[in-house]
Amino acid sequence: MNLILAGPPGSGKGTHAELLAQGRSLRHTSTGELLRGAVAGGTDLGRQVEGILERGELVPDNLMMAIIRDCLAGDGGGWLLDGFPRTVAQAEALVPLLAELNQPVDVVLALKVPDDEIVRRLAERLNCGGCGLVTAQDRLGADGGCPRCGGRDLRVRADDREETVRKRLAVYRAQTQPALEVLGRCYPLRWVDGRGDAAAVAQRIAGVLEA
Ligand code: AMP
Repeated sequence: MNLILAGPPGSGKGTHAELLAQGRSLRHTSTGELLRGAVAGGTDLGRQVEGILERGELVPDNLMMAIIRDCLAGDGGGWLLDGFPRTVAQAEALVPLLAELNQPVDVVLALKVPDDEIVRRLAERLNCGGCGLVTAQDRLGADGGCPRCGGRDLRVRADDREETVRKRLAVYRAQTQPALEVLGRCYPLRWVDGRGDAAAVAQRIAGVLEA
């Protein structure tokens, strides 16, 4: 199964991508996590994108397409794209790329969450300096560590400051929602109510995938 998961910042996209990828053995590509990893690792790519991420802007389409082509060209098996495509240009380039690779998308899941809930959630989430996971405070391990690697270097993400969050929400509306319309013309697009706790949302997602 090949899935695309979309949603504004704070919609639970990262959490549900992780749950779906584990539950269905899908190769998970989070472009945000990949870019943050490049910044943390001080690579050439990291140096190119650091300021862009900090400002809550989008990385140029040509750079993103080169990254995604490499990710998709990996071994077979199902995959899950999380955070890609983010612009109409990316969506319009992804459709022929997937046709060329003979990797059709089974479903595009788009999470919907009202802005007030997003702002509340973002104030509560943390980024693991060890493995790069972004998680909510109520999902930490019993010992208060990262639920994926157990690390304790947990901080507020640089781009989760209120100013930047407002900018990222505006970017999502202006650039990513139109990209979803492009995807919806080529693949099944399903909107999922992302309000409430993660278990309730996971159930709604499972319902959509089983329908
Ligand atoms: P995310 O973790 O998905 O919220 O992504 C964090 C940041 O990474 C975004 O605010 C962008 O700066 C950058 N980013 C992630 N995915 C993309 C993409 N597909 N196109 C452009 N920029 C991206």
